[in-house]
Amino acid sequence: HAKRSGRGKVVVYSREMEEAAKRVTRIEQALRRAVAAGEVEPHFQPIVDLATRRIIGFEALARWTDRDLGPVSPVVFIPIAEERGIIGPLSQLVLRKAAEVARGWPKDLFLSFNLSPSQLVDQNTGLHILSILDRTGFDPRRLEIEITETGLMNDPASAKKIVEDLQRVGIRVSLDDFGTGQSSLGRLREFSFDKLKIDRAFISSLLNDKPSQHIIRAILAMCEGLGMDVVAEGIEDEAQADRLVQFGCAGGQGFLFGKPADAEATLGYLHDALRGARRLRAV
Ligand code: C2E
Ligand code: MG
Ligand code: MG
Ligand code: MG
Repeated sequence: HAKRSGRGKVVVYSREMEEAAKRVTRIEQALRRAVAAGEVEPHFQPIVDLATRRIIGFEALARWTDRDLGPVSPVVFIPIAEERGIIGPLSQLVLRKAAEVARGWPKDLFLSFNLSPSQLVDQNTGLHILSILDRTGFDPRRLEIEITETGLMNDPASAKKIVEDLQRVGIRVSLDDFGTGQSSLGRLREFSFDKLKIDRAFISSLLNDKPSQHIIRAILAMCEGLGMDVVAEGIEDEAQADRLVQFGCAGGQGFLFGKPADAEATLGYLHDALRGARRLRAV
C-alpha cells in the first residue's frame, strides 16, 4: 500500500511539474507574440511628497492581457521574460510607450522605470535607454531607473558601470525594494544611488511592529546622511502615512494615493490633482 501510494505521489508530482513547465512555455510564447505586436502597456502609479501630498512623479509598471490567458501579473511574466531572453525587447517597448505618455505631463514630474537584474549585466542597456529617450524626446533628467539589490549581485562591476553611465547623462538611479534582498549595506558605499525605496514589507507592519519602526527610522537616518532621497512603498492607509511623516520620511507611494492606472486615467487623475493644487486626498 505504502509503496503504491508513494509511487502514486511521485507520478502526481512530476505531472504537476510538467504542467507548470507547459504553462511557462505557453506564457513565453504568448509573451513573445505580444511584445512583437506591441501589446504590453505601461500603467502608472503616483509617487507623492508625503507632507503635502503633492505628486512628484509616477512609476511605470508593465501590464499585459493575453487573449487566451487573460491578464498576467508582472510578478509572473517579468521573471519568465528574464529567463527566456525576452526582457530586453519587452523593456524597450514599455519604456518607449511610457516616455511617450510622460512627455505630455507637467515638466516637473519624473517617470520612474524598473530594470531587471539581467539588464544590469548587459552593457547595451544604457545605450538602449538613451536611444529611446532621444527618439521620444524625453528629458533624461526626468527619468529615474529603479534597480533591486538582487540586480547588483550577479556582476556588481557591470551594474556599477551601467549605473554610472546613466547618472552621467542626468538619469537618477534608485534602489528598489530596499531591505528584502540579499545584498549588504556595503553596496551603498560602492554605488551612489540618488534614491532609496523602502520595501512594502516594512510599511505594512509599521503600525504594530516596533522592530519595523526602528528599521525604518534607521533607514531614514542613513538616507539623510548619505544624501539620498527616500520613498516608502506600499502605503495603504492614513495612519501609516501619518507615522511616516512623523518619522520624517519625504516620499510615499501606495494604494492610499493611487493604484497603477493606464495612460488616459493617469492624465485625468493629473487634471483633477492640478485643480486641487495637485494635492491628493485619501479615497
Ligand atoms: P515594484 O517595482 O516594487 O513595484 C511596486 C509593486 O507594488 C507594483 O506591483 C505595485 O502595483 C505594487 N503596489 C504599489 N502600492 C501598493 C500598495 O499600497 N499595496 C500593495 N499590496 N501593493 C502595492 P506590480 O505592478 O504587480 O509589479 C510587481 C513587480 O514587477 C514590480 O515591483 C517590479 O519588480 C516588476 N515590474 C513591473 N513592471 C516592470 C517592468 O516594466 N520592468 C521590470 N523589469 N520589472 C517590472
Ligand atoms: Mg519599482
Ligand atoms: Mg518596489
Ligand atoms: Mg516591491
